[in-house]
Amino acid sequence: MTHDRLVNYMKALAAAAPGRIKLETMGFTYEGRPQVLLIITSPKNHQRLEEIRQQHLLLSDPSKSASVDISNMPIVIYIGHSIHGNESSGANASLVSAYYLAAAQGKQIDELLDNVVILFDPSFNPDGLQRFSTWANQHKSKNLVSDPNDREYNEVWPGGRFNHYWFDLNRDWLPAVHIESQNRLSWFHKWKPNILTDHHEQGSNATFFFQPGVPSRVNPLTPAKNQELTVKLAKYHAAYLDRIGSLYFTKENYDDFYYGKGSTYPDINGAIGILFEQASSRGHAQETANGVLRFPFTIRNQFMTTLSTLEGAKNLRREFLEWQRDFYKSAITEATSDPVKGYVFTKNGDNHTMQEFITMLHRHQISVYELGKSIKVGSSNYESGNSYVVPANQTQTRLIRAIFTKTLEYKDSLFYDITAWTMPLAFGLTYDELNAAQFGQASINQQSEFLTEKKVQVLPAINNAYAFLLSWDELTAPAALYDLLDNDVLAKVATVPFEIMVDGKQKSYPAGTIMIPVQRQTADSNKLVSIIQKVSGRYGVFFDALKTGNVSMGSDLGSSRFIAITKPTLAMITGQGVNATDAGEVWHLLDQRMNIPATHLEPSVFNRADLDRYNTLIMVGGSYGELNKDKLKTWVQNGGVLILTEEAVTWASQNGISNVTFKKLKPAIDSTQRLPYTTREQIEGAQQVYGAIFGADVDLTHPLAYGYHQSSVSLFKANKVFMEKSKNPYATPFNYGSKPLQSGWVSRENLDAIKNSAAVVVNTVGSGRVINIADNPNFRAFWLGGSKLFMNAIFFGRAIDAASGRSEE
Ligand SMILES: [Zn+2]
Repeated sequence: MTHDRLVNYMKALAAAAPGRIKLETMGFTYEGRPQVLLIITSPKNHQRLEEIRQQHLLLSDPSKSASVDISNMPIVIYIGHSIHGNESSGANASLVSAYYLAAAQGKQIDELLDNVVILFDPSFNPDGLQRFSTWANQHKSKNLVSDPNDREYNEVWPGGRFNHYWFDLNRDWLPAVHIESQNRLSWFHKWKPNILTDHHEQGSNATFFFQPGVPSRVNPLTPAKNQELTVKLAKYHAAYLDRIGSLYFTKENYDDFYYGKGSTYPDINGAIGILFEQASSRGHAQETANGVLRFPFTIRNQFMTTLSTLEGAKNLRREFLEWQRDFYKSAITEATSDPVKGYVFTKNGDNHTMQEFITMLHRHQISVYELGKSIKVGSSNYESGNSYVVPANQTQTRLIRAIFTKTLEYKDSLFYDITAWTMPLAFGLTYDELNAAQFGQASINQQSEFLTEKKVQVLPAINNAYAFLLSWDELTAPAALYDLLDNDVLAKVATVPFEIMVDGKQKSYPAGTIMIPVQRQTADSNKLVSIIQKVSGRYGVFFDALKTGNVSMGSDLGSSRFIAITKPTLAMITGQGVNATDAGEVWHLLDQRMNIPATHLEPSVFNRADLDRYNTLIMVGGSYGELNKDKLKTWVQNGGVLILTEEAVTWASQNGISNVTFKKLKPAIDSTQRLPYTTREQIEGAQQVYGAIFGADVDLTHPLAYGYHQSSVSLFKANKVFMEKSKNPYATPFNYGSKPLQSGWVSRENLDAIKNSAAVVVNTVGSGRVINIADNPNFRAFWLGGSKLFMNAIFFGRAIDAASGRSEE
């Protein structure tokens, strides 16, 4: 069913059962669809709903929870469906579950609703569900075709799994980059449920999975009791599925490691998250290894496990409520005995990235304070006014550790998703742990809790300016620069540092500073100032106004070391074979954060289009078999900038478009030896690169490093693209050293390959450039420390000295 009809049905149910159901709108998706939430409980509970909520929240406040009487307190259950839009048996089962909860009569349902408050989310991903349901319904035949080759079961790229920007929302609970997650999280914390269920689908040949998952892969920050309760609840799912004869499995394939998933995020929030995975019919009826799998059958299993969850929750109510109380009480005890008393971090001139980071922490109910006194930790200086502290001793202490710590030890070598996500590294912030003495020195004032910052610096009217300078440090600087270029403003980038007099004071500027001369513009000086003021306000960036072009150190403003920036006209190759989430990350970065338009080109359109209208092309990880490679090469030779990430780097080199060589992996096993067949999964799985964080050494003078000030930049690697350094000494601006691993798990063989490999290689091809980025600089849209590199490639790729790559020809 399409999302709009699903919502209409939920509204009708709410209208028909006003005593039991209250319908809330949490917010709206990118495509404007409502995210509805049904609050379902008994009429008696509805009358005192706010009081129930307030009482319930006290359980997660260790200073007040001891006195809470839980003997008659309802348990709070969040039931969620189909976060992957093309796993639609969840959303379709929600119709049945909601109807049952609205309409059932008798002692059993009355007793259930008296004891539970249900937050019922029929569709976690409305845009994806709409896309998939439209596809499956438009291809349905009157006589159902169950052939898996049928168009019905083979969605066009990118499919309905993702949200509007082709993101996997079931990785976004922690970064909360997307509006859907943000709306949902605010309701999650408004109620702090005890159980959250997450109804998915898996491969069509499977059966049904419910948690517990693989025991050795539970995140070590999750207390053991969480898994005990998961097992107790699982007995109910097993009993309900036994009753209807459905096959199922547990403790395999899936895990509770990454807290960005819907079934794992609750585990670090005093609740229990439960993953359900139904074999997918991906349409109305599909042939599988287990016979024809029909859509109604898949819906039935999802509905049954909602019933089993509710029954278990009602019976285990006290235990779950007590667990929530204990979770937060023991968290404080742990924080007290932990030698790490807090974390300090600083903004390196980038207010907007700091703002994003703090906003993310706030979404998870983490308190942030201003640093009271400047301190030095290790080799890093933290200045008050620019730095912030997260004390460990607060109720979300476990989640704080999950966000801040680097992890290098693991019990298992297989993972369902990434192995590390240390957030300050991802955001590119300088940060340190604080021990008790350092935490004391930081002297944070408990009254200085930091709530919001939006310093929009509007430039006062300037007369007689000679030029303006814009710092490249801010996250929003590329957006501001594009806006200027789009207004036909002439802007140049400094390729060397310089010092100059501003407002009567000497000020130094790094390479990468943007300079806007007042003369030589199409706009007169008044118009120019008004454009600059508008851009300043729109993106919260400050421009210094200069009265002279004569520097006291470095090059004068008229020097050829200030290079005019060409407005990028962008296209990205998209479509079948392209990694949709990688492409979506670029789309989201350019569209949402930078307000920069980019054309999405299908290979078939690329092959017939006039490419002269683009000066910059982007290709992310994927296979590009249908792309006309000669046409692409000619375009680069004629002056284009081609930006490649991940497997696109390999593809371009193999097809003669760029010039990169790759390191050879040492084999993990001796192939002359026979190994037990059953060890294959473990041994081969361990050689995957699931995703870990590596520090690259950076040439800070290189145009691709503008805006960076630390000699090490944390990048995220989840592939096996291991580039050799360029033979040209100027063409490997980012490379991994001999100890690159910062956080996460990777096999010894893969780590050896990453050591001393190149992270970024620049090739000159004719008058064009190919910028090869081995990893994913925009990972899941929270890797803001890498996005800077990507934006540099877009704006400064063509400014990279032709001489630097000439020997690469
Ligand atoms: Zn799924």
